[in-house]
Amino acid sequence: MTNPVTLPDGTPVTARAGLASAVEVAAAVRSGSTSATELLEAHLARIEAADGALHAFNHVTTERARADAAAVDAAVAAGQDPGPLAGVTVALKDNLCTRGVPTTCSSRILEGWTPPYDATVVERLRAAGAVVVGKTNLDEFAMGSSTENSAFGPTRNPHDPARVPGGSSGGSAAAVAAGLTAVALGSDTGGSIRQPAALCGVVGVKPTYGLVSRYGLVAFASSLDQIGPFAPTVADAALVLETIAGHDRRDSTSIPQPAPALSAQLGDGVEGLRIGIVSELSGQGIEGFEPEVLARLHEAADALTAAGAKLDTVSVPSAVAGLSAYYMIAPAEASSNLARYDGVRYGLRREGPNTAAMMAASRTAGFGPEVKRRIMLGTYALSAGYADAFYGRAQRIRTLMISEFARVYESFDLLLCPTSPCVAFEFGAKADPLTMYLNDVCTIPSNLTGQPAISVPFGTDATGLPVGVQVMAPLLGEAAMFRAAAALEGSR
Ligand code: GLN
Repeated sequence: MTNPVTLPDGTPVTARAGLASAVEVAAAVRSGSTSATELLEAHLARIEAADGALHAFNHVTTERARADAAAVDAAVAAGQDPGPLAGVTVALKDNLCTRGVPTTCSSRILEGWTPPYDATVVERLRAAGAVVVGKTNLDEFAMGSSTENSAFGPTRNPHDPARVPGGSSGGSAAAVAAGLTAVALGSDTGGSIRQPAALCGVVGVKPTYGLVSRYGLVAFASSLDQIGPFAPTVADAALVLETIAGHDRRDSTSIPQPAPALSAQLGDGVEGLRIGIVSELSGQGIEGFEPEVLARLHEAADALTAAGAKLDTVSVPSAVAGLSAYYMIAPAEASSNLARYDGVRYGLRREGPNTAAMMAASRTAGFGPEVKRRIMLGTYALSAGYADAFYGRAQRIRTLMISEFARVYESFDLLLCPTSPCVAFEFGAKADPLTMYLNDVCTIPSNLTGQPAISVPFGTDATGLPVGVQVMAPLLGEAAMFRAAAALEGSR
């Protein structure tokens, strides 16, 4: 059986008894029946007790959080409404810019850098009454699936500290799973919200590309990156997404529409929805899917059938090629996005006899091995003479996937598959990069197509490690996707 991290009184950090959901917290704080300060102190005490073992946080913003919670309480006392997330604690992946608070991307290259502005999502959360508790650990520049690529050491899975929490947003997932914060934000370029959510047993959402502003998210692969929530429940994730979504003129890829209404429809059920189980992403033709993960997937399908949905299997042949296309496109975009870390404009600098030597020395000292590997892969994929064979071909696969998924969504409302082919693995178990990359097979398609997807906890394996099921939807299909997620959650 698993051996979860415990609090000083012996209770597992993963037991949620006594922890209110974000929906409950906001209602209690708005009505004045609980204070934001009291709730914050409870989370700070858990951080103090458990984060030494977990290392979910790079930085805890204790004093700012106390001031923000006090301001929420003062607003309530003055008869004002602090907003829909009143007093809800939130942790931010440390690649989201926070004014006056270090933002490291878990990289040495940003050493000493403090952003002069807040990301749009941070502004929106604070305006809604949320209280930011700190910045969470990640794989360096969000490149990885385990947080083992953090320059500051990995995060541990609260369910079993010998195992990874997933990645790259492993700190955010672990913080929510351990109740160190009510909710958290992450970024998802190839699965970095959904996969750690699955491995830690929480809900994680990758919204439609353009639904949430990327302004203030440190760029990895700009055509794939999206910000989204981690939460203990589907309703909490919906509440957070409603708050952070909606047009922002500071992100030119932001969809010019208001945020969708999700919470109000959560209970509407799945009666009549046509849901396809993607055969290629559920163990047919690809090896490495753990039998227990597939067993939970089929139970999830049965639960949706019992709730009135029409389930069928469907083939999306190009879904398998997504992995190869992604590991060309993402490094190509990363190689140009990361060119800005030159020893001059941000953070770390190593001196050299001339400018080129100074830049090379700074980048050599500042980036870890996985980031260097991606920069080299991406630069090669874009280089003269190879760009068409590698980058161009990957883009054609991406176009093919977009049209295949669009065709499938003519006959299905939603698609279903596991979030990750395996449960949380032990540190070092996927030390060779290719083995690690293969882990992203189920999550990458939604990034390449821009479509939304959610990971919902759905039981465990025989040892008690969480399993996540992924519901995918067509562009801006979040409302039905959340209804199916709520139905899955409610069936347990
Ligand atoms: N694991 C994938 C990668 O390493 C996805 C990362 C992410 O979504 N940020 O690129």
